[in-house]
Amino acid sequence: MVNEKLVDIKSMNEEELGIFLSGLGQPKFRTSQVFGWLQKGVKTFDKMTNIPAGLREIFVKTCYISSAAIEKKLISAYDSTVKYLFSFADGETVESVVMKYHHGYTICVSTQAGCKMGCDFCATGKGGFRRDLKASEILSQIQSAQEDNGIRISNVVLMGMGEPLDNYENVIRFLELVSCEKGLNIGMRHISLSTCGIVPRIYDLADKKLQLTLSVSLHAPNDEIRNRTMPVNKRYPIGELLRACRYYAEKTGRRISFEYAMIDGVNDSDDCARELAGRIRGMLSHVNLIPVNTVSGSSYRKSRSERLKSFIAILEKAGVTATVRRTLGSDINASCGQLRSSAAKNKAAKGENTG
Ligand code: SAH
Ligand code: SF4
Repeated sequence: MVNEKLVDIKSMNEEELGIFLSGLGQPKFRTSQVFGWLQKGVKTFDKMTNIPAGLREIFVKTCYISSAAIEKKLISAYDSTVKYLFSFADGETVESVVMKYHHGYTICVSTQAGCKMGCDFCATGKGGFRRDLKASEILSQIQSAQEDNGIRISNVVLMGMGEPLDNYENVIRFLELVSCEKGLNIGMRHISLSTCGIVPRIYDLADKKLQLTLSVSLHAPNDEIRNRTMPVNKRYPIGELLRACRYYAEKTGRRISFEYAMIDGVNDSDDCARELAGRIRGMLSHVNLIPVNTVSGSSYRKSRSERLKSFIAILEKAGVTATVRRTLGSDINASCGQLRSSAAKNKAAKGENTG
């Protein structure tokens, strides 16, 4: 259990750490030493070998270092994709997935334990919300995965459990840490953030002009279908969302990536394709079609492959670029949220408290 009074030292940027350390009477050069250790992923203060013992003792009494412990690990027999269930000090768990592409390793990290958004096709959404993750906890998922695999991760997608723009401050802080030169130094162009469409935060993000890729989980061409599958649409309807997307693309010059999970008989008709094309034509964007993953408790099924072909042909004819997303780790996938919910069920079956 984390003592709430302790300082989350790994979430501090270098400037904040400098102020903190000068308050403890430390010389300036100490900041980059301590910051370096934290970003490298040390789990305990006694590992900071070039830091005086007296200061380490103060750290132990006043601060804590977040870390992500491996609770479960699944390795795909097909393509070496690795899926983790990580736990934090308070016992909350989240999932991360490491995928190998020709250009290097990509990690999909979680930004919240659970999610409030309640999308109908999503295992995380069905499990409810537990809490926001701290910046340090998002970072720790990458550090633990790198350490466990002995690899350097070059790309990050914020597409795991949770809605990143519902945990905006911590996510922005994480982006600052992960991209800083003395840290993991993963450039913004190598980072994607996926959102279900929290419109005001899309404007905020656009105004920051970060060079990250914004992925928008659209999954429907109109309010009628989107209201049924994604409750967030009732708050921020599709027209408002697409207006925010245009603003983002214009402000940053970055192509928006629209995610569209193809659900049999729900959003995969030719009419849906035409309506979608009509709405996003002319926008700097790309559509990723993903056959929906069936999750337990949901009646949604994957669209047939002829449907995908027809859908994509209509989009392309209308001048909208689209691809069918390759799925990695399909044998272990059980799309995000399922590993955690099955672990919770196992615990419940054993009579343990799942919280
Ligand atoms: N909350 C954010 C990011 C996490 S979800 C968001 O919704 O964008 C990551 C992606 O997985 C989103 O595009 C989401 O819509 C998609 N997704 C969730 N459940 C899915 C399922 N059963 N099949 C296919 N995609 C799914
Ligand atoms: Fe939350 Fe994204 Fe799942 Fe919707 S799809 S419930 S926003 S994690």
